[in-house]
Amino acid sequence: MQILVQKFGGTSVQSKQTRQHVIEHIENALMNRIKLVVVVSALGRSPGAYATDSLLDLVDYPEHSISNRELDMLMACGEIISSVVLSNELKKKSIKSIALTGAQAGILTNADYNQAKIKEVNPTRIYHELKTHDVVVVAGFQGKNEIGELTTLGRGGSDTTAAALGVALDAERIEIFTDVNGIMTADPRVVKNARALDVVTYQEICNLAYQGAKVIHPRAVEIAMRGKIPILVRSTYENHGGTLVTNAVNQKNTVDVSERLVTGIAHLANITQIKVQTKEKEAYRLQSEVFKAMADAGISIDFINISPTGVIYTVPNVQHKKAIKILNAKGYKPTVIEDCTKVSVVGAGMTGVPGVASKIVQALTNQGIQILQSADSHTTIWVLIPGQDVYKAVNALHEEFNLAKKSTILHDFLIER
Ligand code: ADP
Ligand code: ASP
Ligand code: MG
Repeated sequence: MQILVQKFGGTSVQSKQTRQHVIEHIENALMNRIKLVVVVSALGRSPGAYATDSLLDLVDYPEHSISNRELDMLMACGEIISSVVLSNELKKKSIKSIALTGAQAGILTNADYNQAKIKEVNPTRIYHELKTHDVVVVAGFQGKNEIGELTTLGRGGSDTTAAALGVALDAERIEIFTDVNGIMTADPRVVKNARALDVVTYQEICNLAYQGAKVIHPRAVEIAMRGKIPILVRSTYENHGGTLVTNAVNQKNTVDVSERLVTGIAHLANITQIKVQTKEKEAYRLQSEVFKAMADAGISIDFINISPTGVIYTVPNVQHKKAIKILNAKGYKPTVIEDCTKVSVVGAGMTGVPGVASKIVQALTNQGIQILQSADSHTTIWVLIPGQDVYKAVNALHEEFNLAKKSTILHDFLIER
């Protein structure tokens, strides 16, 4: 049975009007394929009544007092509503359709409420329904754990549902429909001349996604990569274009990806930098005590720099009050900078290439942007900057690496220097 998986994000399913575009894509696919599995996100964005953030508002998130288990029960409703609404509209167009929750679709997860990982997909029910229906509409972002409780997969997790189903059903492709025309060299809301990439490798987009390019969830990319199923990220409002995410790159289609110095610039906002200093003698105790305390409180930390006199690290803004309270209780007086943004320059081709970091520093200092912290790996250079400078910083780096015009080929970069 030839199966295609299509996933439609929140903005794509938000209104009758936008769902008309969704239905057209479904109709087009049905003309060419035998069967279709459609994954949907919750309807729209806040303040839309059924958007995930609006459901969370009902329980005063993040100051809530209900359990993570019940938060998942609440959030899962958004996608369930969406699946029923779309399936009903498809039936009105005489398309044989049925809606399933993630659990009914066979998605089994671990018990980590709010951030559950998919352990297994049992596609028996979907195959059964596809015998009598053309489309199975699955509520994204959710599954059930071993004892049958509802779980959710972390924000943006409908992409993960689509990828897991694509692999379990051995789909020929996973199509991620969203409000932009593919994966771009930077967030088009920040960089007006950001350019859509035709083809990227799983690895490239995984790095960008982990650094904040929310156009696709990084876990979805990992799952599709392991299952060797190509992903096409495309716009709900266009009939062409998009970015193909795959392993091998078609030589006719694009530059050799290994030569692409920088694939794109990603950014992650709403981060707080925390600096804890101590006397040199006590540094060892401080390091183990601080990181253990953060881990025990479930606070996710990042951007860790350790020196003989202290530690610097970041936490999400929403967790910074809790982090400071813990540090104060232990007698530390941390220096805190709220509302920072992490900007990442990502590209597999930068491995071992001299001069990339200095270009980044130069581009930012030319704009008068203060670099609060930096770090690098073989495919990414990160800088932490004050949040108010994010537009200037991302645009300056996009410009510096010529991303609007073409892929920066390693050869050109070396000549320019
Ligand atoms: P959906 O609801 O369809 O899942 P998301 O809001 O999660 O959509 O993701 C799409 C958004 O991702 C775009 O509107 C865009 O602003 C943002 N985005 C961030 N980085 C990128 C990038 N590199 N390429 C494309 N879009 C990006
Ligand atoms: N509705 C969920 C969210 O807003 C999941 C998703 O849209 O992918 O995070
Ligand atoms: Mg998304």
